[in-house]
Amino acid sequence: MKIPFSPPDITEAEIEEVAEALRSGWITTGPKTKELEREVAAFCGTNRAVCLNSQTACGEMTLRVLGVGEGDEVITSAYTYTASASVVCHVGAKLVLVDTQKDSLEMDYDKLEAAITEKTKVIIPVDLGGVPCDYDRIFSIVEKKKALFHPTNELQKAIGRVIVMADAAHAFGATWKGRPVGSIADFSNFSFHAVKNFTTAEGGAATWRSIEGVDDEALYHQYQLLSLHGQSKDALAKTQLGAWEYDIVGPWYKCNMTDVTAAIGLAQMKRYKGLLERRKEIIGKYDAALKPLGIEVLDHYSEKHQSSGHLYITRIPGITLEQRHEIIVKMAEAGIACNVHYKPLPMMTAYKNLGFDIQDYPNAYERFANEITLPLHTKLTDEEVDYVAEQYSKIVKEYLAC
Ligand SMILES: *Cc1c(COP(=O)(O)O)cnc(C)c1O
Repeated sequence: MKIPFSPPDITEAEIEEVAEALRSGWITTGPKTKELEREVAAFCGTNRAVCLNSQTACGEMTLRVLGVGEGDEVITSAYTYTASASVVCHVGAKLVLVDTQKDSLEMDYDKLEAAITEKTKVIIPVDLGGVPCDYDRIFSIVEKKKALFHPTNELQKAIGRVIVMADAAHAFGATWKGRPVGSIADFSNFSFHAVKNFTTAEGGAATWRSIEGVDDEALYHQYQLLSLHGQSKDALAKTQLGAWEYDIVGPWYKCNMTDVTAAIGLAQMKRYKGLLERRKEIIGKYDAALKPLGIEVLDHYSEKHQSSGHLYITRIPGITLEQRHEIIVKMAEAGIACNVHYKPLPMMTAYKNLGFDIQDYPNAYERFANEITLPLHTKLTDEEVDYVAEQYSKIVKEYLAC
């Protein structure tokens, strides 16, 4: 068997929608992107959503909408993908990384609380693998530290405390205490990249909770300006007969979504509930096979939360880096592609160059050293799921014994 890690789940429905977009005469940002934005907002329980060309762009544009930049500090987890942190560098703010908890992939919330200073503007929790963070704890921390917050513009003033901007790249479709991710943090940024649960090949969406005294339409418009050259009229509006004139209100960015890719999303939207269900089934099968062996896995479903089931992150207690590598090679020999989520940011050259040192992140290192991610996607057949669980059990057993 040959089992890829995370192939896109594309059917004739997506192909049909894309073909329709291509035939329609309008291929860049237009009616399909706007329709996807409406559907994403409805799905997340928000008034508005903005679709851009990646989660990274959504994160960066959100920081810019918030007016975060030089002199500000932004906190995120050491245990994440670079995009959670790189956007902080893009806007010129100071990046602060927090270690994970001892027994979890979430940030150590005591350390998060201690890291908040008078310069902190935003914290970026990461809903890893599709499991929502402890937002009760996060919001209680930013409330408690309210007095330290110094707003420097009207939007920051309206929020009145450190802003919670979720890296929800994995978590589209997850819920927490009955509420969809997208309407929990102040701002949430989803990824629709090819390997994610829900895809537009490349793409992402930003959503936010309505803020008292802030007009959702004005915020939406600000995202449009920032992501489309600061141009006062988008290309579609300019096609109105005679409506050639426009202004450039800022020398800004270019990261809009196209209707060709939005078309993929519109077809995925119709299938997405079923895709989430299928992920839940697969996780149930993996859990049943692997948990009894002492392999630690993420808690994807509980009374309090329903994950989007994005990654099947496992942890084999006690194994060394070399053993972890051996297991991944043996899985590859059995035709199964595995991965590691994540090599902590302080181990990466870019972040070392910024002065981060993995010695200061012992829990993140511990987690990384014996983590292996199994294939989890909706192209897997039951037979393949059984095969992966069987092979993994067999291979890992040798290492658990010693
Ligand atoms: C994929 C990913 C991103 C970036 O998403 P893009 O759409 O590729 O920009 C950000 N954070 C995490 C945790 C991711 O896995």
